[in-house]
Amino acid sequence: MQENAMKAAWIGLGVMGYPMARHLAAKGGIPVTVYNRTSAKAAKWAAQNKGASAPTPREVVKDADFVFACVGNDDDLRQVTIGPDGAFQAMKPGAVFVDHTTASANVARELHAEAKTRGLGFVDAPVSGGQAGAENGVLTVMCGGDEEDYARAEPLIAHYSRMCRLLGPAGSGQLAKMCNQIAIAGLVQGLAEAVNFGMKAGLDMQAVTEVISKGAAGSWQMENRHKTMIAGKFDFGFAVDWMRKDLGICLEESRRNGAPLPVTALVDQFYAEVQKLGGNRWDTSSLIARFQKLGK
Ligand code: NAP
Repeated sequence: MQENAMKAAWIGLGVMGYPMARHLAAKGGIPVTVYNRTSAKAAKWAAQNKGASAPTPREVVKDADFVFACVGNDDDLRQVTIGPDGAFQAMKPGAVFVDHTTASANVARELHAEAKTRGLGFVDAPVSGGQAGAENGVLTVMCGGDEEDYARAEPLIAHYSRMCRLLGPAGSGQLAKMCNQIAIAGLVQGLAEAVNFGMKAGLDMQAVTEVISKGAAGSWQMENRHKTMIAGKFDFGFAVDWMRKDLGICLEESRRNGAPLPVTALVDQFYAEVQKLGGNRWDTSSLIARFQKLGK
């Protein structure tokens, strides 16, 4: 089908979904109808993007060839898909549901199976790149599902991503996102320890970071977070509450597949301490705040 003959629906206009849907409408040039639980946000999006809005997931998907979602967790996802007013109740046969929520591999497999019994496609497609990646349309998208469904969705996902790949059957996108979060957790703790150590040692950590970021220790987190870690500023970015949700998913999956995650489990507990400091919405780089609080 030509892109200009397609219709799309978008469910969930949060920090991530709002700009992703905007890119889809602007660059894809296809009519996008949106649903958001807080309806004022959907009305605002529709006004800003010459789109339309609908009051329930069930109504927003009418006539849509592709339905995109980016909501909070497994329960939210079940509600907007198989709930009484969920999208699956009214999607037209052959339509594809693309889920950008970070959720469990289990819910992805469950919804994929449910979609297939209804003649629908389902691709789990969690993203990485944060709010800035969504705003700039340069997200990394990790997908699981059937090749045919993926091939149809990929050109649309390309409007807000710079890397998108099918990594295996249903659930594989969520499993890849777990690898992403596991790799980040230990890395941010290491960075927090290094910055705190350097400051304790009386070093100019700005200067030190400018040097070591060009060597083997360099990372996205170091490049993008060292300044705010040194300054003790965390009121932005990827929230600790979201990270704990994601690490919980990783730890649960590891109990299933037997892969040990000792550092991830420890860092998850450190994030629990950050939450106790009031850091629920702080950026994940706030691991360094524990040392300041502990007087270390
Ligand atoms: P957010 O700003 O809190 O937005 C969540 C969206 O989901 C809102 O539109 C919310 O509606 C909707 N929602 C939640 N529960 C719902 C329910 N039961 N029924 C209907 N709608 C519901 O979150 P976000 O930062 O965009 O994150 C969305 C997903 O992307 C999460 O899974 C997160 O882990 C993942 N993610 C986030 C980032 C990031 O940097 N923020 C990066 C990568 C991945 P309301 O407006 O009514 O609350």
